Amino acid sequence: MFGLMQDRPLLISNMITHAARFHGNREIVSRLVEGPIHTTNYAEVERRARQLANALAGMGIKQGDRVGTLAWNTFRHIEIWYAVSGMGAISHTLNPRLFPDQIVYIANHAEDRVLFVDLTFLPLVEGIIDRLTSVEAVVVMTDRTHMPTSSKIRNLLAYEDFIAQGSADFQWPQFDERTASSLCYTSGTTGNPKGVLYSHRSTTIHSLACNSPDVLAIGSKDCVLPVVPMFHANAWSLPYGCAMAGAKMVLPGAAMDGRSIHELLESQQVTFTAAVPTVWLGLLQYLEAGNLGLSSLKRVVIGGSACPRSMIEAFETKYGVDVSHAWGMTETSPLGTAGALLAGMESWDLEKRLDVKTKQGRAVFGIEMKITQDDGADLPHDGKAFGNLKVRGPWVVEKYFKGDGGQVLDAQGFFDTGDVATIDPYGYMQITDR
Ligand code: AMP
Repeated sequence: MFGLMQDRPLLISNMITHAARFHGNREIVSRLVEGPIHTTNYAEVERRARQLANALAGMGIKQGDRVGTLAWNTFRHIEIWYAVSGMGAISHTLNPRLFPDQIVYIANHAEDRVLFVDLTFLPLVEGIIDRLTSVEAVVVMTDRTHMPTSSKIRNLLAYEDFIAQGSADFQWPQFDERTASSLCYTSGTTGNPKGVLYSHRSTTIHSLACNSPDVLAIGSKDCVLPVVPMFHANAWSLPYGCAMAGAKMVLPGAAMDGRSIHELLESQQVTFTAAVPTVWLGLLQYLEAGNLGLSSLKRVVIGGSACPRSMIEAFETKYGVDVSHAWGMTETSPLGTAGALLAGMESWDLEKRLDVKTKQGRAVFGIEMKITQDDGADLPHDGKAFGNLKVRGPWVVEKYFKGDGGQVLDAQGFFDTGDVATIDPYGYMQITDR
């Protein structure tokens, strides 16, 4: 017998329409690549996303088409994400830090029809445009006054002109929640990069799980600074989670040095932020050198690579900021584990707490996690046995885009992450090798 509850599709457009309707005035602040700080809000971003969806539809972009971005975290990138996924097309974040040859491979493999690029990346695109076989239009994410006077790229469009072509008279379409929403390629350290194709369903469930208290714990009162780029595994779901919660969002653009990050943390009174350890190293050095403090920051999530124990200790003891060490990968949307302390652990002494916090955290609800020997046999969760880390769940990859890499799941449907780890009796996973 099936339940008798409404079977409404979990769509990404619901996130931004909810934010616009119930948190419409909540701000989205960006440091633009052109220089200034720009402030908008959810209502405005949702309206402009509808305009953009209309403009894209006007040039023939339809459901399932790929639309690429080479861009930093700014409000325009947020608008593109919501417009493209919301209209049923696929938002493809390209990683500008890859080699140009890899970017060519990825854009051609994805068959991106349109490329949205920040001014910063225009020289990069000019260098490869002749080799991009599917790109029909390049839109520079700026206004007319900041457009270059000449470019090798024919018919270069300014984002603000492009968006102005579309009317806001657009209804977000309803479709199956399993429809592809976005695409992100693995970094391809071995072989060609492979595409991970997220769905509206996987993205929504992942974002809901990420917002829960022992994971990212984002609420409407939070002011969130996603330093982790949107091209790095969906900025760890923050642009989605903030919209769902109605949190204020602060977007750092291209400036991720200690001084710029500190300036945003303080001027915007950020409560929660997330990035890889190298960003935090820069910030901690800047604070140390200037004898500065953090007046509003309460929590930071650190992941992407192993977070040093000394970094966790510095945040917690010198600046009173709670650190959660998280693990994930492009193939897991990305969050798989997060490092909140369990009941009773708060009273443990510092060294013992740091022992726990240095590990990569516990499985988020929705993620099943195990370690196995090479023959596939399960290993004990005793904190000593180490083996292949495998995960299964509704936001974990099933197959790569276009079938690359063949079958990637084991007989039980677990994905082998390639990481080697231990799991302790409390459930904390620790990466020991890759
Ligand atoms: P990517 O798909 O580029 O995000 O890379 C994912 C890989 O980064 C994982 O498979 C791990 O090897 C590594 N990684 C991510 N988070 C952590 C972490 N907290 N500690 C150690 N390695 C990590």
